[in-house]
Amino acid sequence: MHTPTQTMASTLLFLLLTATTAIASPNIIHLLRPHSGSGGHKHSNLNCLSWRLAVETNNLQKWTQVPQACEDYIGHYMLGKQYRRDCDLVAAEAYEYAKALNLTGDGKDVWVFDIDETTLSNLPYYARDTVAFGAIPFNSTAFNAWVVEATAPAIPGSLKLYKKLLKLGLKIVFLTGSEEIYMEARVKNLKAVGYTTWEKLIMKGVGEGSGVVYKSKKRKELEEGGYRIRGNMGDQWSDLLGSNAGDRTFKVPDPMYYIG
Ligand SMILES: [Mg+2]
Repeated sequence: MHTPTQTMASTLLFLLLTATTAIASPNIIHLLRPHSGSGGHKHSNLNCLSWRLAVETNNLQKWTQVPQACEDYIGHYMLGKQYRRDCDLVAAEAYEYAKALNLTGDGKDVWVFDIDETTLSNLPYYARDTVAFGAIPFNSTAFNAWVVEATAPAIPGSLKLYKKLLKLGLKIVFLTGSEEIYMEARVKNLKAVGYTTWEKLIMKGVGEGSGVVYKSKKRKELEEGGYRIRGNMGDQWSDLLGSNAGDRTFKVPDPMYYIG
């Protein structure tokens, strides 16, 4: 028979073993790092859930990288079920909204989708040890090389939504801050994962300004061309703010980078 102390010890041992097994799971592809900054200093009062919430609500702006203390937290969020569930909920709500729209059938009702972290996921790139979910400063050369590979997977909820919107009779406009020189790669990537048709794919030219300025201008041009933006979905607030934002906007999560 076990004494109460022995029972408690066994329970503790079981919990410890369970925790160790979870940490050693082969699904976690990124090595965990100590919770300290590059100079070794601790970010003692930073709560990473609070940080992520502040990011998603646009209370935190113009941040340049994920705090190193939150690298593990963001990595687990992105690779775990929560990120996918959060995306699925946005997509489900967007569909409920779209279903109730009175579409005119003249082919001018459009849905604007951003690309990166909205319809395509760069998570395989961001999970690299050299990127650390955005906790290491952005390297445009490496990121652009990844874009050229054209192997980004679809965000499942967004792809499902895209297909349903097409069935409802909405036209799709992809409006991305991705530069025009990557047109071929983006088209190849979109088609490969199931985004096979669209009304327009608008990419950023040289000198088109910040995200908000560029996207507002392009949406204004769309509306001047007779299109009605019934919905607009993006991972950055700069996809959704500014002029001609659309009848309703939908924000999908992205705690890995900020574009103003
Ligand atoms: Mg994006």
